[in-house]
This record gives sequence, structure tokens and C-alpha cells, in this order.
Amino acid sequence: MEVSSLEFREIKRIIEKNIPMEKIDKIDLEGPKVVLYTNDIEFFIDNDNEIRNLATLLKKRIILRSSADKLMDVESARKIILGIVPEEANISGIEFDPNFKEVYIEAEKLGLVIGKHGQTLDEIAKKTGWIPKLLRKPPIESETIRGIRKSLFESSDKRLRILQRVGKRIYRKPTSTCDWVRITPLGGAREVGRSCFLLQTPESNVLIDCGINTAATNNNRFPDLRATKLEIENLDAIIISHAHLDHCGFLPYLYKYGYKGPIYCTEPTRDLMLLLQLDAIEVSEREDKELPFSSNEIKKMLKYVITLDYNEVADITPDMRLTLYNAGHILGSAIVHLHVGDGLHNIVYTGDMKFGDTRLLEAANYEFPRVETLIIESTYGGRYDTQPNRRDAEKELINTIKETVKRGGKVLIPVFAVGRSQEVMMVLENYSRFEELEIPVFLDGMIWEATAIHTSYPEYLKRNIRRRIFNGYNPFLADTFEKVDPKKRDEVIESKEPCVILATSGMMTGGPSVEYFRRLAEDSRNTLAFVGYQAEGSLGRRIQNGLAEIPIERNGRTVALKINMHVKTIDGFSGHADRRQLLGYSKKITPRPRRALIIHGEEKKAINLAMTLHEMFGFESSAPQNLDTIRLV
Ligand SMILES: [Zn+2]
Ligand SMILES: [Zn+2]
Repeated sequence: MEVSSLEFREIKRIIEKNIPMEKIDKIDLEGPKVVLYTNDIEFFIDNDNEIRNLATLLKKRIILRSSADKLMDVESARKIILGIVPEEANISGIEFDPNFKEVYIEAEKLGLVIGKHGQTLDEIAKKTGWIPKLLRKPPIESETIRGIRKSLFESSDKRLRILQRVGKRIYRKPTSTCDWVRITPLGGAREVGRSCFLLQTPESNVLIDCGINTAATNNNRFPDLRATKLEIENLDAIIISHAHLDHCGFLPYLYKYGYKGPIYCTEPTRDLMLLLQLDAIEVSEREDKELPFSSNEIKKMLKYVITLDYNEVADITPDMRLTLYNAGHILGSAIVHLHVGDGLHNIVYTGDMKFGDTRLLEAANYEFPRVETLIIESTYGGRYDTQPNRRDAEKELINTIKETVKRGGKVLIPVFAVGRSQEVMMVLENYSRFEELEIPVFLDGMIWEATAIHTSYPEYLKRNIRRRIFNGYNPFLADTFEKVDPKKRDEVIESKEPCVILATSGMMTGGPSVEYFRRLAEDSRNTLAFVGYQAEGSLGRRIQNGLAEIPIERNGRTVALKINMHVKTIDGFSGHADRRQLLGYSKKITPRPRRALIIHGEEKKAINLAMTLHEMFGFESSAPQNLDTIRLV
């Protein structure tokens, strides 16, 4: 029996046949998950195979909850929890959510709240009726995470209703059989920026990514949603591969214009996305390039986010089943796998990915249950886009720092807040740990907040970093690093000591990196080191190209600022797969796809990679243009 296209009616029938119904008061849906309300939670905890078998049979996540009259009053439950959980767990908060019948326990040492084989959690549920949900106390206080947790908690009744509505829509009665599948790029084809792809079957309309192009000023800034003539309310779901704005920056707009459906992404993507979107609004106002939405829509959007873990399978429409896999690009970044139409077609969309060693993340996943169409990025897919290997890049960075220290200078590294910053931090931490480099590293701009979000999700980081965090040594908290209060910037600049400064923005289009640059540029002992991509037209790119001076305002007069500091570009730190890695990935991906669509790259690079993939692997390849509709089945 094929169960992906089950209607709610049938789901209920299967449940009724397979578990003791006298213990079940109600069956409900919350997004892709099935919820059972029971009057005997103890029975299902002691006989956990009942739910496990049912989940296997239905191929769905099943959530168990106590019926309302089985919940202990909040004050007694709180006492019991504090009595059961060992004090060393360091509980920092207990909040009861009567809508979801869950209790959120925030603690430092989650392992102690879980107990051996989950025993402590089970005991809490059995004694109080409330199902415990765990929240890690961020090792670095994060305003973003604090705000998100508060807002999710306060909107829980609204969120419950949204999830129930989404669930009914997912398990609706299909009106047509799935006999074709097609995809249309609405942005992000033969370009980098505003990624957005519309995937359609006779039954479903799903968007994969919905980004903006922050560098563009004309109408190429946003994806072309109008061209499809698709009513926004007919969209079933939006899947977001990762938090960079060229993949999610346009989402709030959809909520301004009537979209009321879900967004699927990983939990770190949700948090980083919020941080970057809110920042984008601030930056766009400062630069007079206003965005067509405000923080109100971002708040609204948050209620519609459904987070998935890597490898967790979720039905998102009557004929589409979604799984997210690690993409190795930034924290929480995902490769999107879609199983369409009961085995009719399988799609792998890489989003942005890295298929190689980094300090921070594991390399992208390349094994899938099935895949016929591969949709692959090509940022560095051009013929000559081979990056130096990581080891050499790290050595070059360390040598650059050492030479600058010898001169008694400072090293300024402009970085993106999310991704490159933490990667460079881990490199510097590593060299300082082995005492090859003893130098203070100052972090300025949004880097600290983004780092705080990283430390809250150790399970998404590379194995050895995760292990170190769990063992009580958090490398992001190493003594080398120091957060700079904007008021103390002068102290850092005026100090006589050599140091490294990591500052946003990454392309020196504004922010603290530009401020530091103005103060450090004239001193030839200092170094400006680029480790990330510098877009055409940015100040970063112009300096890279040999700019000798720039006009600045000083005491109300315009003067020429001479760039005497050393300028160095160090390649090899990119979060994207380079040409070699893209070919390696296409070779290794299992099973072997029949077709490849090349996207997210400049025109020449995308076309060249398409030709190469055809020649090397026999894929039916193309580099579609925006608004080309490609029929997959
Ligand atoms: Zn990206
Ligand atoms: Zn991208």
C-alpha cells in the first residue's frame, strides 16, 4: 500500500485499526504530523512500540499528547520537574504551553534533563501529563533566539490553528492524479541572487527558495512572481534551503500579500533568516533602497515556519514528500530532496553547497533514496574556478597575520556575519590553541550575534566542534576572541598592540569594516585581508583592483584617504563548492540522476558547467533561463 497520498480520513482509519482506541480521545493534524491525544500517557510510554509501529506503517511523525483533563496543574508540575531533574542540569526556565500541552524546559546540560535512555523525560510526562520539550540555554546570550522563543510561545494558540489548517490541506483529497511535474525558475537562473523556483504538479504548487538580489538596483532585485499568474493563496508550501538573503530575503513580502501557508526549513535557518532579514530592512533604509515590507511581516512569517531536522521526512502536499539534508554551506543549510507523485519523480536541489573540508561543517550529503533530476548551483562552476585547497589558504592567512604582527600592525578582515566569520574564527582558534598564534581577535558588527546562534545548535556543527562543546570546551568562547562594543571601537584602533579585527560588512558596502578601514588605511604596517567574494562595484572589489585613494569627509572637508596598508586576497575560504568539487559531487551523487539543471551562477559559468556535466557523466543537462518552464515528467 502506498501511503504518501493518504487523506486524513484514511489516516484515522489506519490508526483506529492499529492501536487501543479506548486510550485515544482525539486524532488531529499539525502540519505534516499526526497528533494523538490520550487519556493514558503512561501506557504509551511503557509500550513505546505501539506508536513506533504506527509511525512506520503511516510513514509519518506521530506526536503523543495528554488530553486536557489529564494535565497536572502548572505549579505542582513545576515542583515535580524541579524534583526529578538533577540540579547540575542548571535549569534556566520552565514554561507551560496549554495549547500544545507541552512544557518547555530550558537548561544548560540537556543530557541531564533527558536522563539515561530518556528516562527522566518519560518520568516527567508520566507524573505530570505534560510532554517535556527541551531548549538549550544559548552558551552565548542571543537576542535573536530569546526573541524568537518568546514570540513563538506568545503566539502558540495562533500557531496551533495554523498547523491544524496546514495539516488539513496536506492530507486533503487530491483532485487529480499526478501525471506531470514541471519547474520554472522565477529568479536565480543564469545569475546569482533572488533564487526562486516554482515546482508544480496537477495538484501542487510549491516554491523552493524566495530570495532577493541585494546588489541589484533595478527590477532584477526580486523574483518574478507575477509572471507565473499564480495566485499567492494557491501556493501550498515554501521550502527554504538556507538563511542567506539571496534565498529567503523576499519571504516577508509574500505574507504582506496574502500568503498564509507554511515555510519549511531547519531550525538554525529560521533563526539566522530572521537575523538577516531584520538587518536587511535596517541596511536598506540606511541606503535608501527600501524593501517592500517591514518587520511586521517578518514577525507574521515566523508563525508559519515549520522546522524539520536533517533526514526527517515530511509530507507537504498530497503528492510531495520533503526531506532536508546537510549542504555544508552555512549553519543549517539544506539540500532539498522531493519525492513527487508516489514514486513518479525525485528531485535533488542543492541550494548553495560545499563538497569539501571546512572547519565548521561536514561536507554536503550525496546519498539519496532516489534521484532523477539534480538541480545544482554553479557559483564557482566556470572553467577556471578552482580554489586553492583549504590547508594552503589557512597557511596563507596565518602567515599574513604573522608578517603584520612583525611590523607592529593590525589585520582587518571584512567578513559576512554568517558563515565566513565563524569559519575564520575556528581557524584562528585552532592556531592559537597550538600556540602558533597569540594575538587578540576582535569581533565587530553582527558577528557576535550570529556566533551566538551557532553555539546554540552544536548538533549542526562538525563532529569535533560538537564534541568539544559537549565536553565543556566551547571554541567560540576561547580567550582569543573579544566582542567590540561600538563605543569602544576607538580603543581597538588606537591601541599600540597588533591585533586581528573581524568586521562586517563582508564587501565593505557599509558598517564597521568601512569604519575600521578609514582609520587603518594610511598606516603601511596594517593589512586588509579579503577572504570572501567581493561583488562588482563594491568598495571591497575596487580596493582589490588596486584603488590608491578614496575621498572621505574629515572635519567637514572632503580629503583623499591614501591606501597605504597592505591589501591581500586569500582565496580558498569560500562556502561554495568550487569547479572541482561540483564535478566531484556530480560524479559521487547516488543514485545517478538522469538530468541536471544548472542554476545559481553567472550565465557563462552555468552554461559551461551544463556542457561539462553532459560530456563527463551523460546527464541531460541545461542551464535554464528565468521563466523557462522545464517539464521533468
Ligand atoms: Zn548561500
Ligand atoms: Zn546563494
